[in-house]
Amino acid sequence: MELLFATQNAYKVKEVNEIISGIPNLKVFSLAEMGITDDIPETQDTIRGNAIQKAEYLWQKFGKNCFAEDSGLEVDALNGAPGVYSARYSGEPKNDKRNLEKVLKEMENKTKRSARFRTVIAFINEGHLSCFEGLCEGTIRKETTGAGGFGYDPIFQPTGYDKTFGELPAEIKNKISHRAKAMSLFLTALKNI
Ligand code: IMP
Repeated sequence: MELLFATQNAYKVKEVNEIISGIPNLKVFSLAEMGITDDIPETQDTIRGNAIQKAEYLWQKFGKNCFAEDSGLEVDALNGAPGVYSARYSGEPKNDKRNLEKVLKEMENKTKRSARFRTVIAFINEGHLSCFEGLCEGTIRKETTGAGGFGYDPIFQPTGYDKTFGELPAEIKNKISHRAKAMSLFLTALKNI
């Protein structure tokens, strides 16, 4: 099966390709590989809404089976922010470092440090939509640690580990992350098609 992946984010493409490597008969094409440079709209006010909007955009424009994912960091002490606004939390143009510094600043005096990453994958197969959600629980560190991953990884410590996603090897992140969990549900569904 060939699927178009609705993202311009090279890190997400890399993670998804690592997660699906070894799965026979599945080839995922990134937008870049297909020469698609569209800035895919994501104007909804939920993560799920954005994932669906991105997948529907591709299906309607290119008529190709496709999937989109939308993710965000939800910090309990910030009432779930940055959430759906994770990519542009510090404003335009989007900047991972500034976003992360804004969260650190807002969390300076907070004792409650719990947070989670959420991913929703929207999959369109011959016009039929289905969604898969993955969560990764953890805590927000007081300072950045580690240079791996992307986005908020250097301040997010997943539950059960004493390192941030910025420090943990990609193989571990790709097993326990929100994206890995949503992908696992998605892949199970693909096997049953
Ligand atoms: P979007 O899903 O492309 O809208 O991006 C959401 C934003 O959430 C990204 O720009 C990152 O800042 C953040 N994000 C999503 N997934 C991860 C992750 O696995 N690690 C760190 N940050 C992430």
